[in-house]
Amino acid sequence: MTQLNVVPFVSVDNMMKLVHAIGIEPMMVELADRIEDDFRRWPSFDKTPRIASHSDVGVIELMPTSDGQTYGFKYVNGHPTNMKRGLQTVTAFGVLADVATGYPVLLSEMTILTALRTAAMSALAARHLAPKGATTMALIGNGSQSEFQALAFRAICGIREVRLYDLSPDATAKCARNLAGSGLRVVPCPSAEEAIEGAQIITTVTADKQFATILSGNMIGPGVHINAVGGDCPGKTELARDILLRSDIFVEYPPQTRIEGEIQQLPPDHPVTELWQVITGAAPGRRDAGAITLFDSVGFAIEDFSALCYLREKLATLSFCEQLDMIADPDDPRDLYGMLLRAAPVVVKRA
Ligand code: NAD
Repeated sequence: MTQLNVVPFVSVDNMMKLVHAIGIEPMMVELADRIEDDFRRWPSFDKTPRIASHSDVGVIELMPTSDGQTYGFKYVNGHPTNMKRGLQTVTAFGVLADVATGYPVLLSEMTILTALRTAAMSALAARHLAPKGATTMALIGNGSQSEFQALAFRAICGIREVRLYDLSPDATAKCARNLAGSGLRVVPCPSAEEAIEGAQIITTVTADKQFATILSGNMIGPGVHINAVGGDCPGKTELARDILLRSDIFVEYPPQTRIEGEIQQLPPDHPVTELWQVITGAAPGRRDAGAITLFDSVGFAIEDFSALCYLREKLATLSFCEQLDMIADPDDPRDLYGMLLRAAPVVVKRA
């Protein structure tokens, strides 16, 4: 087989080895820079809201994009009720392909990669929007994504203290345990109100398929940055509408966020700013120290594309992958059938 017929595959096991080889925080720093570079060339990407298949208990989504040379997509689910069955809320895998031939060039697990890229994206947004000198972050929702969020904000935004709250004390204890030794001061809190005390940044990363009120209007004073990660589906939000009306709202791709983000609670013409424009300097970010900035994160295909391209580059030196026989390779490209015939098992006749 030539190299064209095999596709590098990064399993969960190999992803974990690769992340440890690079380092968790260094990898999120590099991912944030990579996403930032791709956001700077935003107009060169094909963009579409992700394609969602909803059910009563969750959603399965496809997230495609292309920059004209490379095509990528992610398969991802969101099932908040999975937790009760001992399963994860979010799992994912992704593919890159060569636009010139249409051949896939990478297949990877993306459950871990999504947690890393989501946290890198959150911290990247905060790098542009959060109040200067922020040192304390409230982290509400202490499930799978939470430690990644805490560490990305430490590495990228200089956060020193995280104040944890989750409906489940077990989740908070797990998060605090995992962050012990990270260099962060970790403060478990008995309520969301106590978690946000003294925090300049508030991250909400809860999972519940309803219009939830993780933060109500009276909890939010001037000057904070809100990183709202958990509301990412129609009918699934985290913030009281009143907070949105008082905030300067920043989004990834408006046609998707209008459907899935916190702003589904607002009229379709409510003004929002696209984050890529803040990154390129085409639009202002934080207006003043008293403004409330809100990153209404839903997760967009370009972030996954950036993460997969980053991964592909890393595999050149860190070969934590297997080669999958995924592309049929007949000697004559028109003779697929002949290739199949020649592979028929030889039947040995007994005398
Ligand atoms: P998870 O199920 O592992 O954790 C969610 C946590 O939220 C649980 O510990 C749960 O107890 C807690 N929770 C639920 N309701 C709460 C409430 N009212 N107050 C406090 N805590 C509450 O899920 P996860 O993998 O950590 O994902 C969290 C959310 O982030 C999901 O909604 C997921 O869809 C979303 N997500 C968004 C992006 C993005 O790019 N924006 C990416 C990945 C995941």
